[in-house]
Amino acid sequence: MLIIDCHIHSTGSESIDTILKGMDSAGVDKAIIFSPYPSEMRRTDIFPKPKSGVTRYMEFSYPDVTVEKQREVIEFIASLQKEAPDRVIGFVWLEPRLKDAVQILEWAVTSKEVRGVKMIPDHWYPYDEFMYPVYEKAEKLGIPILFHSGILFGFKDSSRFCRPVNYEVLLSFPDLRFALAHISWPWVDECIALWGRFRSYTIRELGRSREDIRMFIDITPGTPLIYRRNALQKLIAYGAEDYMLFGTDCRADRIEYAKQHIERDTSILRQIIGVSEETVRKIMGRNALRFLDMKL
Ligand SMILES: [Zn+2]
Repeated sequence: MLIIDCHIHSTGSESIDTILKGMDSAGVDKAIIFSPYPSEMRRTDIFPKPKSGVTRYMEFSYPDVTVEKQREVIEFIASLQKEAPDRVIGFVWLEPRLKDAVQILEWAVTSKEVRGVKMIPDHWYPYDEFMYPVYEKAEKLGIPILFHSGILFGFKDSSRFCRPVNYEVLLSFPDLRFALAHISWPWVDECIALWGRFRSYTIRELGRSREDIRMFIDITPGTPLIYRRNALQKLIAYGAEDYMLFGTDCRADRIEYAKQHIERDTSILRQIIGVSEETVRKIMGRNALRFLDMKL
């Protein structure tokens, strides 16, 4: 069975050997790996040390977020991908408020072959107008965006910016493929309802087919185990099985831990929910190929 992990973080110091060893030991065929956030890079952690005091709307949670750093993390993820292009799918963790973010994104995709974008709203809203050019560019480049959604461990008091319904604005960018991570936990129902909104919009208002829905749901935990079975069950019952993406939130130097995630999710799907093998295959890997617009 093809396994694609759609949610792996890098810190900027991993070697391709460690990454591939972890993937092999877990049985992960391909991994979407995010570049580090373009703040002062800390070699041991995904999140840098936050600024002290209150963070206001549009202010940064972390110090020294710069264009130079943004380019540097793109170079890093692009070089990892280049060393194992059939295994590593490089996504840039983009800070969209940086000057020239749109041009940097274009450079990342056209010159560095980065395959997608990861973003976390840090004291900005996904529907803020300054975001429109970023969405337009990603839509034009044909690359997907994976957004954090749900409670946020990091970026100070930013969870409210990451509520699923904040992403409804993406109805206005009908060719942009995107995913909300963590089934937006604890706002799982809101996430599923938003997916329903995109389904209905695609079919009724755009007159497109069911296969053309652009919203995907990254099922990376997030959801603590007691919520997980219920969340996955709801997604499947609501008809989203073609849009669910398996992911782990592992660090790139510890992908071996993905093994437990694979075992847990496949057994919830098979034994507790009782879905078909075909559905398991979609969720564990096949759906991600569509999210990435990739053929095997
Ligand atoms: Zn994550």
